[in-house]
Amino acid sequence: MTEETRQALAQYVTSLFAPEDAVLAALREEIPRRGLPEIQVSAEQGRLLQVLLTAISARRVLEIGTLGGYSAIWMARALGPQGRLITLEIEPQHVELAREFFERAQLAKIVEIRLGPALESLASLEREGGESFDACFIDADKENYPSYLDHALRLVRPGGLILGDNAFLDGRVLDAPETDRGAHAMREFNHHVARHPELSSTIVPVRDGLSISVVHPTAR
Ligand code: SAH
Ligand code: MG
Repeated sequence: MTEETRQALAQYVTSLFAPEDAVLAALREEIPRRGLPEIQVSAEQGRLLQVLLTAISARRVLEIGTLGGYSAIWMARALGPQGRLITLEIEPQHVELAREFFERAQLAKIVEIRLGPALESLASLEREGGESFDACFIDADKENYPSYLDHALRLVRPGGLILGDNAFLDGRVLDAPETDRGAHAMREFNHHVARHPELSSTIVPVRDGLSISVVHPTAR
């Protein structure tokens, strides 16, 4: 299949299953306008996240890496009115944009943003209650992915999901030198989810690769 056909098929999936509403479209346009990097998930991926969360009847979701709230809006919309999504972000400017759009999407009551280094927020979440999430979506600084996985394993319930974006790192997982710290960390993360005795995992090759791990229902 040519790259062109592959892109046309992604577009086919998006228009069939993942059309953006006005809020998501406006947010996607606002991200570069505010000088933020355009590294949010694709609509196709947003839909995949929704389908996965629906499959496990998720109510409580943790996201590491908010940016402007694009993936958070997709996910929060799969949780129902009793849902809760906690999203962690280090950049105040990103939090500001996300807050605006959670309001516009009428999700402000469901979504909580925690500003600060994710490792610190994760430690407080553990102190607050441990294994309380149905799913954790990891999508922040790549070098901390292995540590984020350790936290996710403590925070996600048996039967829940641990999801990792950018599992391919634009192909760097294949051939980047070991001095590439991001690639090193992502290889380590992928290796752990592949081999962990309490996880069933794979990588779906959508966009930059999404790793999907189910915490065994009988774990712990
Ligand atoms: N999930 C978002 C994209 C996230 S981009 C979406 O798909 O819409 C990665 C985000 O992680 C950036 O906003 C960046 O500021 C944030 N980030 C990077 N390092 C972080 C850290 N140590 N703690 C919390 N957030 C961090
Ligand atoms: Mg990403």
